[in-house]
Amino acid sequence: HLQEHTHKRNKMPKCPSCDKEVYFAERVSSLGKDWHRPCLKCEKCRKTLSAGSHAEHDGKPYCNNPCYSAMFGPKGAASTHLFLEL
Ligand SMILES: [Zn+2]
Ligand SMILES: [Zn+2]
Repeated sequence: HLQEHTHKRNKMPKCPSCDKEVYFAERVSSLGKDWHRPCLKCEKCRKTLSAGSHAEHDGKPYCNNPCYSAMFGPKGAASTHLFLEL
C-alpha cells in the first residue's frame, strides 16, 4: 500500500473536477482523489462513472468503453492528446 497519511491542510477534500469542497455524503473516491458523485464522469463523453470501475488517463477519468479503448487502447494509442485541445 502507498502511504495514505499525508497531512491535509483542509479537512474537506476538493473535487478535482469542479474544485469545490466535497462533503462526506456526496463523496466518491477514485484515482486516489475524492469527487462529487456527479463530477466523476468521463472526460470525453460525460457519462457518469462508478468509482473503481472506470479507466484513467493523465489523472482524468474516462469510461472504459468506448472512450478509453478508442483513445488509448491498442487502436487509438497514437492520438493521446487530441482531445486536450478542446
Ligand atoms: Zn465536483
Ligand atoms: Zn466516455
